[in-house]
Amino acid sequence: MVKKVSLYLVKFSLIIFLTITTQIGGVAFLLAELLHRSIKKKIRYSKPILFLLVYLFLTLLVVPSLASVFGREPIKHSSQIKPASCMTVLLNRNYVKPELNDLLSRTEKRLRSSGISMSYLDANFPFFDGFPLLPHLSHNDGKKIDLSLIYQTKKGGISDQQKSISGYGVFEGPKMSEHDQITVCKKQGYFQYDFQKLITFGKINKHLEFSEAGTKTLLKALLKDKSLAKIFIEPHLKTRLRLNDKKIRYHGCRAVRHDDHIHLELK
Ligand SMILES: [Zn+2]
Repeated sequence: MVKKVSLYLVKFSLIIFLTITTQIGGVAFLLAELLHRSIKKKIRYSKPILFLLVYLFLTLLVVPSLASVFGREPIKHSSQIKPASCMTVLLNRNYVKPELNDLLSRTEKRLRSSGISMSYLDANFPFFDGFPLLPHLSHNDGKKIDLSLIYQTKKGGISDQQKSISGYGVFEGPKMSEHDQITVCKKQGYFQYDFQKLITFGKINKHLEFSEAGTKTLLKALLKDKSLAKIFIEPHLKTRLRLNDKKIRYHGCRAVRHDDHIHLELK
């Protein structure tokens, strides 16, 4: 009896975890459980294999067209628009409203001669307004997307690579002479402010450095778009890049620091 109850608890926690991280993972798990019961000849690891097959079938073949019912679509990839990690796509974290795809495509045209690519990080899940894509509480309506900062080699060559596996958590912190909003927030007790340092999944490309010119070019191309509502970057980067557009806002201490990625929102 105790064994049975703990098995149900493990399964229940797994369903919650899969739903929080991928939105459809919990449903895929339940479908795989049902299918598994109907299989007569069971092989070793048949359950996890079945789950993976069902999950991939749903993610790659069903969800992209079903998302349109909820007014969302996968981010359209091109030579200058791609995910920083393929996991973003495999975890269904790459859905936006069609208007956001249009914004990215117009920005790509503006960036064409610069050689700068947009590497996107977390966007939104495919279904239901109000369903947050954790840990980003506001990524819940198809109108939000995070983009990677732009990096360059020591010789100044623009790169489309990131400095961590997830694309988050390697900060371009304030210099001695710059305003340090991070310390301000932490002193006020907002300990979550640099939460992303826990989700780098490993630091990479240590030879790359922050590209001021590249990031500024990207931000200016985004700011030209009429359908852009706002952009969040950390105040010291806004000052360093000499940007004073009103659409660049400060997100407040309740959010997380934005000197490892750019957050943007559609009107
Ligand atoms: Zn964001």
